[in-house]
Amino acid sequence: MIKIRPHHLLCVRGFNGKGYSDDFIQNMARVVRALKNKKEILITFGYDDICSKCPDLNNEKCVSEEKVGKHDSLVANELDLENGKVYNTVGLSKDTDAKKTALKRYCVSCEWFDECY
Ligand code: SF4
Repeated sequence: MIKIRPHHLLCVRGFNGKGYSDDFIQNMARVVRALKNKKEILITFGYDDICSKCPDLNNEKCVSEEKVGKHDSLVANELDLENGKVYNTVGLSKDTDAKKTALKRYCVSCEWFDECY
């Protein structure tokens, strides 16, 4: 099962092989591949399987936790996701693809936006 924080559901859609470090990129690519095959994901409002190889993770907490936590709340709210709950990715993509496209408006302020899609 993949553990993922809500705003990363948008990041994986835009992932274009760029990232903070080689380790981060390899791990992100692994998570993106796994998400295509796994049926279930665990939603978390803390560090997840993508954060695990990020240089910005410090003592199991993102150095920008305040900012990314807000993104998580916005995305979770729009997609009706709860912390600690397991979701079926098939149903989730079917129900939320249109919403996720609309949510790209939150991505505009992200430093990685120009590298995505
Ligand atoms: S640690 Fe922070 S910057 Fe790094 S992937 Fe996680 S949320 Fe993003």
